[in-house]
Amino acid sequence: MDRKKFIAMSSLGLAAIKWPNKSSIINKPIVISTWDSGMAVNEAAWKILSSNGKSIDAVEAGAIYIEDTINCCVGLGGYPDRDGIVTLDACIMDEKSNCGSVAGLEQIQHPISVARKVMENTPHIMLVGNGALQFALENGFKKEDGKLSSDADNAYKKWLEKSDYQPEINIENKKNHGPFAPAFFDDGTPNHDTMGLVAMDVHGDLSGAVTTSGMAFKVHGRVGDSPIIGAGLFVDNEIGAATSSGVGEEVIRICGTHTVVEYMRQGYSPEMACKKAVERIVNRDTQKASGIQVGFLAMNKKGEFGAYAIQKGFVYSVKTNNENKIYTSKYIL
Ligand code: ASP
Repeated sequence: MDRKKFIAMSSLGLAAIKWPNKSSIINKPIVISTWDSGMAVNEAAWKILSSNGKSIDAVEAGAIYIEDTINCCVGLGGYPDRDGIVTLDACIMDEKSNCGSVAGLEQIQHPISVARKVMENTPHIMLVGNGALQFALENGFKKEDGKLSSDADNAYKKWLEKSDYQPEINIENKKNHGPFAPAFFDDGTPNHDTMGLVAMDVHGDLSGAVTTSGMAFKVHGRVGDSPIIGAGLFVDNEIGAATSSGVGEEVIRICGTHTVVEYMRQGYSPEMACKKAVERIVNRDTQKASGIQVGFLAMNKKGEFGAYAIQKGFVYSVKTNNENKIYTSKYIL
C-alpha cells in the first residue's frame, strides 16, 4: 500500500472512533450502581463521597448496605443454590488496581469486607470456599447460622417443586424470552439483582465493588462473573470502570468489564463501550442471547456514565451533586 493511501485510511479509521470531548466538565463525586436497588446503595456510598472520602470506602459502604438488606440476590438473605446453601461472591478494586475477591463464601454477613481484607492483607486476589471462610474467621468475621431468610426459603421450596436443573436467570421483558432461560417466577419476581457499583471521589479516583449470592439455584460450587476481576468488575483509574449483571457465564466468556474499559480506552463513550461488549455476546450466539439478560454499566474518568443490555429491563441508579435517579438502559434485542 502506498504511503498516501495508508495515511488516508488511518485517518478514516481515527475519524470512526468517537474521542471524548476534552472540554467536558468532570462530574465528581459520583456513584452509579446496578438496578433500582442501587438508589439506597448510592445513598450509603454518598455519605462517604460527599464528605470528601475515598471511593474505595464508598463502594464498600454501598455493598455493605445491600448485604444487610433482604434481597433475592445479595447477601445471606439471598436465594440459595440447588442444595439449599447460600454461597456469596464479592470483589472490590481501587484506583491503583489493588483488588480482592471471594467466591463461594458461606455464612459470612459481609463478603465485600472479606474481599477488601484479601486485597489489603494478603499477596493474593481471590479466595474461595472453605479457604475464604477460614480467612474470614481468622480476620475477625463472625460465622452466621446459615439459615435461609423467609423470602429465600419460600422461593427455594417453590423451586424444589420442579427443581429444574438448569440455573435460570430471568429477563425482565418476559415476552421476549428464548429457549435457554425462560423467565423463572410466574409472579415476575426477579431471580437476579447482583449489586455492582462504581464511584469516583472528589480526588478523581475510581473504585468499584460487586456483591451477590449469584444465580439463584445454581449448582453448588458454581461461580459467576461477579467476583472475577475483568468479568464482573474492572477499574482502570486512567480510563474508567465497569460492572455487570446478568448471566455470568456469558460475561466471563468475553471478559466483559475489561472489554468495556478497553473500548472506553479506544475513545468510546461509556454507553457505546457497553453496547459493543453486549454486541459481542449477542453476535456469538444470538439464539442463546435472545433468552438471557446481561447488562453492563460503566463510567469514564470524566464522570460520564452509560449502560447497555441484551434485553429490555436493565436499570441503574446514579447519584451526583445534581441528580439522584434511576436510568433505563438501552438494549439490543
Ligand atoms: N451475574 C450474576 C451471576 O452470574 C447474577 C446476577 O447478575 O444477578 O452470578
